Amino acid sequence: MIIKPDYNLKCVYDINLDELKNQGIKVIMFDLDSTIMISKSGCYRPETEEWLNEVKDKFTVAVISNNKSEEYIGKVQALSDFTVIGHASKPNPKKMKQYLNSLGIKPNEAVMVGDRPLTDIVAGKLLGCKTILVDSINAENENRPTRFVRWLERRVIR
Ligand SMILES: [Mg+2]
Repeated sequence: MIIKPDYNLKCVYDINLDELKNQGIKVIMFDLDSTIMISKSGCYRPETEEWLNEVKDKFTVAVISNNKSEEYIGKVQALSDFTVIGHASKPNPKKMKQYLNSLGIKPNEAVMVGDRPLTDIVAGKLLGCKTILVDSINAENENRPTRFVRWLERRVIR
């Protein structure tokens, strides 16, 4: 099925970086909101920043977000020493494809990590890269409607 991710993990910190490295992965693309940053918070948690530093030692890192606000994306870019791309229109993989092309990287050398099956994971599948679905970085504090939508979306991938 097109929405089944290669890995389904509790959170980004569970990603086995050495395993990805051994599989020939060179680039890790992350969704932003709820994946590596609490939705609309505009800042990284210190532990996330620390973890991202470890990721950056081993891989080229980028953020691919559907957020359309140039101001918000600009703010996140200012906090990040890696590429932050907004207005990505996932599940359309076009921006991801353009980004990988700019690096001379093939889709099978990249992975897409996100919290939403219908946008992040489908985009990765359409692009032909590996995909990692993670639970929301802030799952314990989300409201009921949000948790319901997540539950519903995850039913599709089982
Ligand atoms: Mg997200």
